[in-house]
Amino acid sequence: MTVKRLQPFGETIFATMSAEAVKHNAINLGQGFPDTDGPDRMLEIATEQITGHNNQYAPGMGVGELRSAVAESRGVDVDNVLITVGATEGITATVLGLVEPGQEVIVLEPYYDAYAAAIALAGASRVAVPLKEVGETWDVDVAAISAAVNERTAMIILNSPHNPTGAVFSHDALRALAELCVARNLLVLSDEVYENLIFPGATHTRLAELPGMWERTITVSSAAKSFNCTGWKTGWAIGPQDLLDGVVKAKQFMTFVGATPFQPAVAHALRNEQEWLRDMVAGLDRKRALLSDGLRAAGMRVHDTAGTYYIVADIAPLGLADGVEFCMNLPKNIGVAAIPLQVFTDHPEQWQTKVRFAFCKRDEVLREAVNRLRGLSAGMGADHAV
Ligand code: PMP
Ligand code: GLN
Repeated sequence: MTVKRLQPFGETIFATMSAEAVKHNAINLGQGFPDTDGPDRMLEIATEQITGHNNQYAPGMGVGELRSAVAESRGVDVDNVLITVGATEGITATVLGLVEPGQEVIVLEPYYDAYAAAIALAGASRVAVPLKEVGETWDVDVAAISAAVNERTAMIILNSPHNPTGAVFSHDALRALAELCVARNLLVLSDEVYENLIFPGATHTRLAELPGMWERTITVSSAAKSFNCTGWKTGWAIGPQDLLDGVVKAKQFMTFVGATPFQPAVAHALRNEQEWLRDMVAGLDRKRALLSDGLRAAGMRVHDTAGTYYIVADIAPLGLADGVEFCMNLPKNIGVAAIPLQVFTDHPEQWQTKVRFAFCKRDEVLREAVNRLRGLSAGMGADHAV
């Protein structure tokens, strides 16, 4: 039995594809998690916290040390920081705490699946506005968003750097979006979990720092992607006190607080592991090239990635038309897992042949994946209905 508002949701595509990868012993380039750990000292601190008796509830807003480290990293006051159970909880609590049932929330498609679920849980309606293709990447279509805004619109959810496309939205588009939000008095949830995974040539714009945006924006982020600890589920929500109050009210009854011992460890990482982070991103940049080349050699069209650790490839040149079918068969037939983009959309047509591959894996693992993917251009794809 499931309540009506959750009935449209099945198992997440990430859980499905990871299970397929395990079943077929495939290389998992589907769900986005790295196969190496974060900085050594960060790991040691978490261990020391556990053996050093820091194992009881944290304060409601989170461990002070982490709140201050997040506040410093963003140039905001510590009162504007709430520690959450990953960015995921920050997203759900923001929508539950700030959007009324019956209101509309605009998401940009392809959109991360947790947004849709949070909107449904809040009894609100999702309005999906597609990104616009610009060259080999995508950007925010402000005119289309403007056309979608009406008197019921409460919030826009933005995510840059963007999962699943790997796009980093342009400053100009985000400025125009900010002007629209101010003019139409809209709230914004800015999901910046990939804020540190930016490749040379790209610049990340923090939406809350644009004129008129601080007072209407909740920014969420997390340690998961910056410090290779997706399993720690330690994130944060940042915003002005009156908006954060609503987020706290929802959050406190979902989990009350997150895991205590990880918080001082993440505080350490934010303050002292910037060099580690730079090296990690430089490594990712090389992996991006390795996988892009491999996907191209396998016969796919490869889109540009300016941030995140995902690459979108188009399977149309392989003579294939359906990304879901392709991804369901790939672990068994080729020994690699990937994620179809159309599951993140309400208008699947234009995304049907787009597939996401994650490159946050050791070089030897990516090389083996690339070797296996060569099987596609050898004809296995077209002939064997991969
Ligand atoms: N937003 C986006 C766009 C993501 O890709 C993810 C997954 N890292 C999250 C939110 C959730 O982050 P967390 O694992 O910290 O809950
Ligand atoms: N954010 C990760 C991704 O996009 C997955 C998180 C999850 O499994 N929910 O791959």
